[in-house]
Amino acid sequence: MSCDYFELANPGIQKLHPYIAGKPVSELERELGISNIVKLASNENPIGLSEKVKRAIEKEYTDGCRYPDANGHYLKAAISEKVGVSASQITLGNGSNDVLEMIAKIYVQSHHEVIFSQHAFCVYPIVAQSLGATLVEVPAKNWGNDLDKMLAAITDKTRMIFIANPNNPTGTWLGAEPLKTFIDKVPKNVIVVVDEAYTEYVTDGSIPNTIEWLSDYPNLVVTRTFSKAYGLASLRLGYAATSEEICGLLNRVRQPFNVNSFALAAGIAVLDDQAYLDKAVQVNQSGMQQLVENCQQLSLEHIPSAGNFLTIDMGQNAMPIYEKLLHMGVIVRPVANYSMPNHLRVSIGLEIENQKYIDSINKILG
Ligand SMILES: *Cc1c(COP(=O)(O)O)cnc(C)c1O
Repeated sequence: MSCDYFELANPGIQKLHPYIAGKPVSELERELGISNIVKLASNENPIGLSEKVKRAIEKEYTDGCRYPDANGHYLKAAISEKVGVSASQITLGNGSNDVLEMIAKIYVQSHHEVIFSQHAFCVYPIVAQSLGATLVEVPAKNWGNDLDKMLAAITDKTRMIFIANPNNPTGTWLGAEPLKTFIDKVPKNVIVVVDEAYTEYVTDGSIPNTIEWLSDYPNLVVTRTFSKAYGLASLRLGYAATSEEICGLLNRVRQPFNVNSFALAAGIAVLDDQAYLDKAVQVNQSGMQQLVENCQQLSLEHIPSAGNFLTIDMGQNAMPIYEKLLHMGVIVRPVANYSMPNHLRVSIGLEIENQKYIDSINKILG
């Protein structure tokens, strides 16, 4: 007897599309037969691993044959001290994607609705879809979250709202006041997830650190990552800060050894390396300036960004420009899958990497 294994899959899973990641440099070098490719496609930290992290990882070799600390005790203590929330409110994840998935798994069922903005980070619909929930995509305002429209979209079935602040792939951000007013109005049985993946890059004082609001909002979940400003994308490390009650639930669904010992040690080391973070932020700011100036010279509009990337309107279908950049050895990110067919997202790199992008785009458009 034959059987259709696609039809057997959960309906939510059948409708999923795989996440499209940026091409690794090695793959493109092989495909195109060129070298010295720069990758400005995945919002990675261009300055490399912190030296303190390298030393911490080496120390872990000896016990690499052992299971990691399932509770991440020392890393939670370090995060707790850094961000001012109790260790009993922190859940570690294999990247923040891991905690985003866990939080949805806890609360979202197939009869629920999950709200997020147009042009929001694609992991939110993927996570909600995999649970069979109804996706409610609210049209954006100036490329960012339209909080009034999001409030209006709430129904009896709404269980979760995802907001990235700043948002990827647009770089748009919400100030403290509007976000607080919004959360005040959200019913308490709706979980508000504020994804602060880029928070360490933020220099605009109006952007809130919502971890400080946890005591006021039991339905608030804040997620953070070590993949961006802390430069640990490959090690997969992120966390959620929540009430103790939600933290207890996260601990029930969390895989016991979801964070490996190298990531645990690296996280502790980089939290102790303020000079590294300062440098990352400084390189980001000057690189942002470099790209913004190029946009102005080429009369290209860009979306003002509080992250480590700039999303640029090419004024035409961006795909052919993306392809040309690829062949010149510059990988950027097309965002047509975010319904932004004319934009390209360019991650901020080192000065010479940005310059290679600038020289290439000047040649293409000049
Ligand atoms: C990069 C990014 C993350 C981080 O994902 P990790 O799994 O921690 O690497 C989360 N949210 C947004 C909006 C991002 O852009």
